[in-house]
Amino acid sequence: MFADIILPIPFDSFTYLVPSSMETRVMRGCRVVVPFGKNKIYTGIVRSVHNQAPQGVEAKAIISTLDGHPVVNEQQFTFWQWIASYYMCPLGDVMKAGLPGAMKPTDEKALKAAEKPRAQKATKQQEFETIAPQPLSPAQQTAMDEVVESFQTKNVTLLHGVTSSGKTEIYIHLIDQCLRQGKQVLYLLPEIALTTQITDRLRRFFGEQMGVYHSKFTDAQRLAIYKRQASDNPYPLILGVRSSIFLPFQQLGLIIVDEEHEQSYKQQEPAPRYHARNAAIMLAQQFGAKTLLGTATPSFEIYHWARKGRYGYVQLTQRFRDMQLPIVEVVDAKEAKRKRQMRGAFSPRLIEAMRTALDRHEQVILFQNRRGFSSLIECKQCGWVPRCPHCDVTLTMHKKSATMTCHYCGYTMRIPERCPACEGEKFIDIGTGTEKIEEQITQLFPEATTLRMDLDTAKTRLQHERIIDGFAKHQADILIGTQMVTKGLDFDNVSVVGILDADTMLNLPDFRSYERSFQTFSQVAGRAGRNKTPGLVILQTRSADSDIIRQITQNDYWQMFYTQMTERQMFHYPPFFRLIYVYMRHRDDHLLDHLSDDMAERLRKVFGERVLGPDRPPVARIQSLYIRKIMLKIELNASIDKVRASLMAIQQQMQAMPIAKNLNIYYDVDPL
Ligand code: ADP
Ligand code: ZN
Ligand code: ZN
Repeated sequence: MFADIILPIPFDSFTYLVPSSMETRVMRGCRVVVPFGKNKIYTGIVRSVHNQAPQGVEAKAIISTLDGHPVVNEQQFTFWQWIASYYMCPLGDVMKAGLPGAMKPTDEKALKAAEKPRAQKATKQQEFETIAPQPLSPAQQTAMDEVVESFQTKNVTLLHGVTSSGKTEIYIHLIDQCLRQGKQVLYLLPEIALTTQITDRLRRFFGEQMGVYHSKFTDAQRLAIYKRQASDNPYPLILGVRSSIFLPFQQLGLIIVDEEHEQSYKQQEPAPRYHARNAAIMLAQQFGAKTLLGTATPSFEIYHWARKGRYGYVQLTQRFRDMQLPIVEVVDAKEAKRKRQMRGAFSPRLIEAMRTALDRHEQVILFQNRRGFSSLIECKQCGWVPRCPHCDVTLTMHKKSATMTCHYCGYTMRIPERCPACEGEKFIDIGTGTEKIEEQITQLFPEATTLRMDLDTAKTRLQHERIIDGFAKHQADILIGTQMVTKGLDFDNVSVVGILDADTMLNLPDFRSYERSFQTFSQVAGRAGRNKTPGLVILQTRSADSDIIRQITQNDYWQMFYTQMTERQMFHYPPFFRLIYVYMRHRDDHLLDHLSDDMAERLRKVFGERVLGPDRPPVARIQSLYIRKIMLKIELNASIDKVRASLMAIQQQMQAMPIAKNLNIYYDVDPL
């Protein structure tokens, strides 16, 4: 007897011999331990059992079995297979993402020892007092009824509701309904939005019916939830991040994807490069379940399909208790600079608004989309700039720790005292990060207290929560942060929000930069406002009279969408075309030039004009590997199966060439 085993490495599966003593325990979905290569051991998942010996090689034997029952069910297999084929990656990569770390150790004894106490810990239950959902407002009730009605005919519905309209209240009612029908619910949130604020809020209603799945949880905690979901007493409700779509479900009735537009739903690195929202729609379909996508600023893809009628569409335009939307004031930073009025990154208008707020004991949020102190330093004398030795980027200066860091690979060095090129001792810093903003505030508002939230200060979940809790309790007057401050936070004492530099986001060389800026600025603006007084947002920009800035200040999603879509259609971008990026990586830049030209030529023979490139991406070397990117723009009605088959065939031709031995090729389907 033989078995095909999926291993946590980038291949689909390998065939192993099943020793006769194990025949009853080697079943599809069970874990086994197998030898690999010269002296490796892997935990794998049995994909199939058969009696066909592999050709040309002798099959190695399975070392041991770990389970008496499958730990991966048929629904999961179907889902894994879909991810692997749609996102063009091997099943092994999907398995790696799909199982908690503790389930696939490379050392069998460690596993056995670790699992026992963990399993016991999992059975310990907490007790929670729960209350009934609060009554909905008339506008919310109407929206809720429309969602329910929409689900009669559509599998997917978009709930487009302004910030603080009560979308979460509607989710709570829908979850309640679904649980009463004996079905399970998955509530997806972007990583950084999954805070204690939202967990506590849902916990109040659903108590111990709810399990939370977070990537910053320990291996043991994640294993416990996985096991619980596979048992006959699973949590009816899972509140989780992107990877929770891989949990075993049994009776899934509804998936809620909150902040549907969030970029972080897409896994960038490593494979599988899946989009959790899109994968969730597939997963729901597999169960005959419904998907509700909620946001104040829909992604173009989803909004487009909602308008075309493929998805249902429900709108909620009122904020709860008629709270008013914030007023957005534009400050012409170019003009202020010309008049020499800027004090660091601050215009007189922003300083004035902040001062007024602070005098009233109100709080302020400042958004700056760059961490660190400055983007780079430069020798004043000769212009020398420190760069990462492994990547094609300049090092970001972090003043407090006196270091320069690569934000791609983590390489860190001390800030040099002298320029290695000319021995000069003076450096100038260029660009403004959150750390520099914090320093400028201590000069402008010496009496104010600040908190900073970015990847440096909020590395762990605990640090992240401390900052949010601290700010909510008014332990600081001003919160400075990157994207992190835009996500699902509810502070009721914030009256002013400052967007320090709108241009860095707007000018990114990306066809989505306007869409993204609109989303980010609306989200961060939504943090301002207290009860009846509307919040004030000060947006500083050098292009004060551009269309996009006008659309942002007027919160005119529709106009922004309309203008951008015309361009997307003209230049064959999503949602009118499907994008696939083909990435090639190699240590040798010249060889990679040659190989990527060769690959692009082969692709052109099949796909013609749909192929663009090869190009060097903006960061063309990461961790000592050079990178090339080839772009494919595919018609929506093209068969994705055929496209994949052609790509795979060409990849095989390439990798059959001896000079391409160390060439790494991978795909990013529907890249963001
Ligand atoms: P959204 O998810 O659209 O941003 P929320 O559901 O967070 O909006 O609602 C904003 C605020 O208003 C929250 O503090 C919430 O508790 C409150 N709220 C919304 N709807 C109701 C309701 N029906 N009853 C009581 N409070 C509500
Ligand atoms: Zn120098
Ligand atoms: Zn680097």
